[in-house]
Amino acid sequence: MKTIFEKTNGNDGINLTDKKLNLDFLPSEFVRTGEIGLPKLSELDVMRHYKELSDRNFCIEKGFYPLGSCTMKYNPKVNEMLASLEGFNIHPSVDDDMAQGSLELMYKLQQALLEVTGMDAITLQPSAGAHGEMTGMMIIKKYFDTIGEKRTKVIIPDSAHGTNPASAKMSGFEIVEIKSNEKGQVDINALKSVLGPDVAAIMLTNPNTLGIFEEKVEEISKIMHENGSLLYYDGANFNAIMGYTNPKLMGFDVVHLNLHKTFATPHGGGGPGAGPVGVVDKLRDYLPAPVIEFDGKKYYRNYNIKHSIGSVKDFCGNFSVLVKAYAYILMMGKNLKKASENAVLNANYLKEKLKKYYELPYDEPCMHEFVITGEKQKHENGVSTLNIAKAMMDGNAHPPTVYFPLIVHEAMMIEPTESENKEVLDKFVELMIKIANECKTNPEEMLTAPHTTPVKKIDEVTAARHPDLKYTD
Ligand SMILES: *Cc1c(COP(=O)(O)O)cnc(C)c1O
Repeated sequence: MKTIFEKTNGNDGINLTDKKLNLDFLPSEFVRTGEIGLPKLSELDVMRHYKELSDRNFCIEKGFYPLGSCTMKYNPKVNEMLASLEGFNIHPSVDDDMAQGSLELMYKLQQALLEVTGMDAITLQPSAGAHGEMTGMMIIKKYFDTIGEKRTKVIIPDSAHGTNPASAKMSGFEIVEIKSNEKGQVDINALKSVLGPDVAAIMLTNPNTLGIFEEKVEEISKIMHENGSLLYYDGANFNAIMGYTNPKLMGFDVVHLNLHKTFATPHGGGGPGAGPVGVVDKLRDYLPAPVIEFDGKKYYRNYNIKHSIGSVKDFCGNFSVLVKAYAYILMMGKNLKKASENAVLNANYLKEKLKKYYELPYDEPCMHEFVITGEKQKHENGVSTLNIAKAMMDGNAHPPTVYFPLIVHEAMMIEPTESENKEVLDKFVELMIKIANECKTNPEEMLTAPHTTPVKKIDEVTAARHPDLKYTD
């Protein structure tokens, strides 16, 4: 027998150029004759290369990340460990019998999400918030088609996230936009003026994208239901209200949650998500299949849903995101309510500190996020919100969401989340005051920010008009 040293010296390994190997079964043009030509790099070289790339990136592990509406909360690392447990690594086509653990987890997650939303039935299949919106809109469409009502329109406030009109439109509806009132909320008269027998639904985010709670939500629900229409709840801002109220109490019929936002999965750069959709009882039979059920003995995937809109994603959705959400819910327990409480407290603290330096278009108590603007700096110092955002990067803070919502000029939408402590918030306030001062004393410096990042300010006009999409070394 050969020793291990002899085996690895190339004489005995698989070598396609070895004449002794019978390769007759392969067409000759596919047989490699020379070296394979892989880069000759050591593991250490490769590791350093990727570490260097990763160091250039900004992430929650590096600093404050108040990206409004995106809920960039801390994602417990233990979630990652749990999601990669060997037992969860099974083929999605195995029989239910061989997947009882995974099915139980999904079933219990469904139960937990039904509890927090107040809904009656739920699907875990959609893979993002926008995907949940489209699923919900398709359910609403099929519902009205099935009961024989011709309703073609969906009402959406002008403060809505762009995915709302996109999802409604893609599901075959016509969009009717309504203006917000001076308090940044749905204008009831504007709503009434567009109502008619052809209105299928309204899509609302509550608290809305201005971080303001729609105080008239019950009245809106009553008006819509009297009109025979349904209410869709965009749950992207659910982090503000968890445990305090729920979409059912507010009168909604269909709800999506963004598990990657509210229930902790890393989601920068379009990373994996999950957008479960919950519905009230009368829409239960329209959910995508499968729904996970339990017959008292066994968990199983139920594909037999009477009016199901079909399947919106392969198998059971982004399973590992579901594992992380369930782990987060179990870890938090009753503290889910506390998370909302602290998220709201943190946002109000920052708002009050910053409103002396930046314009605050809606000066009211906010929920988990708020909008300030760079209007003053733009008009007085010629420094735009974009410049301010770039300057924040020099101060080791990720910029907030900017120029959204569209109804506020020079908007900066700040969402600190519950994860941050007072020291971090105070440091951010300090940075924002420094920037506000520099806008006055040294505006030129602001226009060329950022100065400390690996990539400096890019020429966005040229990048948009003449994109260089070639891959270079
Ligand atoms: C993030 C967000 C969405 C879209 O969710 P994705 O998971 O990114 O698809 C929709 N509406 C609002 C208000 C959001 O913040």
